[in-house]
Amino acid sequence: MSDGNKRFPLPLSSVVDKKSKTVQQTPASARRTAMQEAVVSTSGPERALPLVSEAVRKAMVARVAKQGVKDALVLASMEAVQRHLFIEPGLASQAYVDASLPIGYHQTISQPYIVARMIEVMRDNRNGGALNRVLEIGTGCGYQAAVLSLVAKEVYSIERIKPLHELAKSNLRPMRIANIRLHYGDGMLGLPQVAPFDGIILAAAGMEVPQALLEQLTIGGRLVAPVGGRHQMLHLIERVGSNEWINSTLEDCHFVPLRAGTV
Ligand code: SAH
Repeated sequence: MSDGNKRFPLPLSSVVDKKSKTVQQTPASARRTAMQEAVVSTSGPERALPLVSEAVRKAMVARVAKQGVKDALVLASMEAVQRHLFIEPGLASQAYVDASLPIGYHQTISQPYIVARMIEVMRDNRNGGALNRVLEIGTGCGYQAAVLSLVAKEVYSIERIKPLHELAKSNLRPMRIANIRLHYGDGMLGLPQVAPFDGIILAAAGMEVPQALLEQLTIGGRLVAPVGGRHQMLHLIERVGSNEWINSTLEDCHFVPLRAGTV
């Protein structure tokens, strides 16, 4: 993936300047505004794509909403993140199609609908959606981490394939998102050193959810994960006590496999 003309470094000044115009911004809404400003403030040859992308991104979000995602914060966050910046330029024209796309190393960027759906389910907690610390297993190109950064205070994301971990770093760096921490490692082990998490999302499907991850949920925390092989179902596991979890099965889904170890 090249650094070509598909990136729009966001000057910090644009965040600070614009912020004063906005009444009562939360950190999440400030970051969202910052990302939106990155779209409109770009000039020169890069201009055409972002301006077009804003309209097609709105259409993508409208489709996601039509498919049943209702959470307004999730929809606004999907609208704010420029998905085309996470995929190689040759595929950029498909960035806002509701499909998964290849990102190399036999992995894919997840379909917009399922990204939105998983975050919506994770946010539907007993704290009215408030999320302090969340964990994503399977950073891939970093797209879902960017969306998560707008709904949670702190986002940790683990990737087991080194070049993809590096790709996510280089995709996210110009966006200057302060609340994402990327880790290279085996996500099946979680991150015990920073646990517990209010939410955990798995972007890859195992035959079962690793016990280590269940142990790293706060009480009241929600884990959303695809489970299965050829046929997969999306599961929600809510921790309701120190030794008690409730598992519900939500819908069919299709993810790349969850694998142990690092490469
Ligand atoms: N979150 C990405 C989706 C990436 S695809 C997005 O925004 O689109 C799923 C990713 O999970 C792949 O990059 C794959 O390498 C990774 N993965 C699979 N098993 C893993 C594990 N045990 N630990 C960390 N990452 C894993």
